[in-house]
Amino acid sequence: GDTVDLDQFSDWMRRYAGVIHDNAPLLTELDSAIGDADHGSNMDRGMTAVVDALDVGEFTSPADLFKKVGMTLVSSVGGASGPLYGTFFLRFGGKLGAGPVDAEGLGVALHAGVDGIVQRGKAAVGDKTMLDAWVPAVEAYDAAASSGVGAALTAAAEAAAQGRDSATPLVAHRGRASYLGERSAGHQDPGATSTVLLLETAAETLG
Ligand code: ADP
Ligand code: MG
Ligand code: MG
Repeated sequence: GDTVDLDQFSDWMRRYAGVIHDNAPLLTELDSAIGDADHGSNMDRGMTAVVDALDVGEFTSPADLFKKVGMTLVSSVGGASGPLYGTFFLRFGGKLGAGPVDAEGLGVALHAGVDGIVQRGKAAVGDKTMLDAWVPAVEAYDAAASSGVGAALTAAAEAAAQGRDSATPLVAHRGRASYLGERSAGHQDPGATSTVLLLETAAETLG
């Protein structure tokens, strides 16, 4: 539709938790090549905790909901990805009001979330992190926002996947993968992969 409401945002988080659970072996396999083999278990633990929190919580606004999501990820995931995704959702929710949000407002929130990841992790495009998926995704979102939420999120998910793939040949400059130096080249980034899944799930649930 033209706007996204609280139920759709909640649905997004639940659907993402399921997708993460199903893809946890893949994410951990990717992280075993250039990290410490825990990205799947980290994300699965975090999103399971998010679903548990959504089950018991009462949320009156998207801002409320994503505050809980962000705080739950920060507190339940020990790895780098917990604070990074947690910060994304805290900043994202901070730009959402009490009512449904339109394509423009969702874009503002996405930008704020990605700015939070940059501030927290100090990475840039080309460092072979989740930002290689996020940054082209928000650019593609902006370019398609006038066509509505569904079209913009679909464009964002496609750009994220391209960004994830264009980071694969690169050498990592942030996070654990950077410890490998040149040997990190040629491996797909786990965090960029979980970001693509998040945006694909967004396109499915929010559009
Ligand atoms: P850890 O590396 O602490 O074990 P995870 O394995 O859960 O944490 O997450 C690793 C992912 O986090 C990487 O694949 C990368 O996409 C992302 N990441 C790591 N450091 C940064 C950073 N400084 N900025 C952005 N993303 C980062
Ligand atoms: Mg790891
Ligand atoms: Mg770890």
